[in-house]
Amino acid sequence: MHKCPRQEQRFEGVFEVECSACGETLEFFGDDEKQKCSKCGVVVVNPNRQEAK
Ligand SMILES: [Zn+2]
Repeated sequence: MHKCPRQEQRFEGVFEVECSACGETLEFFGDDEKQKCSKCGVVVVNPNRQEAK
């Protein structure tokens, strides 16, 4: 009742994706659609999200 299930899921769903351009490791949450690489600025799409649809 006092905790938000959605928030909890975000933390459990953290995974790492390698930037295809520079190899930098980006941290994705289950919710994220895409993320900008902090190193080279390339936009990396969340592969899990694409599959789940
Ligand atoms: Zn990069």
